[in-house]
Amino acid sequence: MNLAKKLLLLIFLCSIGGLSAAERVNCTVCSKKIRGRYIIDSRKRAFCSEKCFEQTLPTCANCRKLCRGNFLKVKSESFCSRQCADNKLLPRCSRCSKPCRKFMVLPTGYGTFTYCIDCYKLDKCLVCCQRAKKLYLQSNGNKLCRYCNRDVITNLAQLQSLFNEVRNTLHKNFNFPADHPITLEMRSFTEQEKSSLHGGNLFGLYNYQGKIVRKGKLFSGKKTPEIKFRNEHCSIIILGYLPRRKAAEAIAHELAHDYMKHRWFFIKDEKIKEGFAEFIAAQYNTISGSQQWNICMEKNPDKVYGDGYREMCKLYKQGSFPALFRLFDRINLQDTPSEYR
Ligand SMILES: [Zn+2]
Ligand SMILES: [Zn+2]
Ligand SMILES: [Zn+2]
Ligand SMILES: [Zn+2]
Ligand SMILES: [Zn+2]
Repeated sequence: MNLAKKLLLLIFLCSIGGLSAAERVNCTVCSKKIRGRYIIDSRKRAFCSEKCFEQTLPTCANCRKLCRGNFLKVKSESFCSRQCADNKLLPRCSRCSKPCRKFMVLPTGYGTFTYCIDCYKLDKCLVCCQRAKKLYLQSNGNKLCRYCNRDVITNLAQLQSLFNEVRNTLHKNFNFPADHPITLEMRSFTEQEKSSLHGGNLFGLYNYQGKIVRKGKLFSGKKTPEIKFRNEHCSIIILGYLPRRKAAEAIAHELAHDYMKHRWFFIKDEKIKEGFAEFIAAQYNTISGSQQWNICMEKNPDKVYGDGYREMCKLYKQGSFPALFRLFDRINLQDTPSEYR
């Protein structure tokens, strides 16, 4: 008999034994006196039957089958296999629903999506960044997911009426003046315009042209320089073929730039400018019942847009608009060139 056969026999003897009347033991599970053949487990516990033995086996937390032989324990849960542990414990891809060890999380107004690496590499919706195999191509090249491909603004007349609506809302809610004309354009952006944005997508742009005329002498101690503008031309460009909600958000953002330009002309800090514009866009979302989209601003990793927005929210929480405006007054004064002071 070779060694392997001997070993096998030994194991067999260990697991199923027979007892003489004198050494009778009780079953670990049912406590009955064991007669004849019985089972011993690795901890040397005796069982009268397979049925009693199985009662000591853990149930797989995923497939509910008994865990026999080698099994995994994670915290207090047992799993019959690595696959079952993965199925239960790993997050699932929102698109292909496979459990994924490596994944990316995308917060959108439609919910938070978790993507496996393969699905993450698929084309993304321009507006919500959801990944999809099928996107809806608009005539200007915008690719939208099926949820964003609703209520799409396709012409300037539609955009203009939305613009008027947003401007009215901001006038009513935040006293944004609607006293000067703003030219509205709907078009795609040039590469040069896009490069003004540090990565990310460009949905709107605000342009200001005007001649600054200093009006009167300032008394010392006065908070803001008295500046007037002449030959002013303000324009807002919005990317076409956006869903109405996104176009409205972009308009609110650009109108905030317009407001800031007229009240705090000299502020240079991009983080303050974009942070305030994002903040007003989020306020508009909230007023118009789309506040769930503000998660995109909250989670924006951008150092200018995201950080600016979060800082604006913090300041607003501390002292509402008066606190924000005092800060803007201060920065504007600091940034005012000496000839206008
Ligand atoms: Zn038993
Ligand atoms: Zn299992
Ligand atoms: Zn996937
Ligand atoms: Zn989308
Ligand atoms: Zn901006």
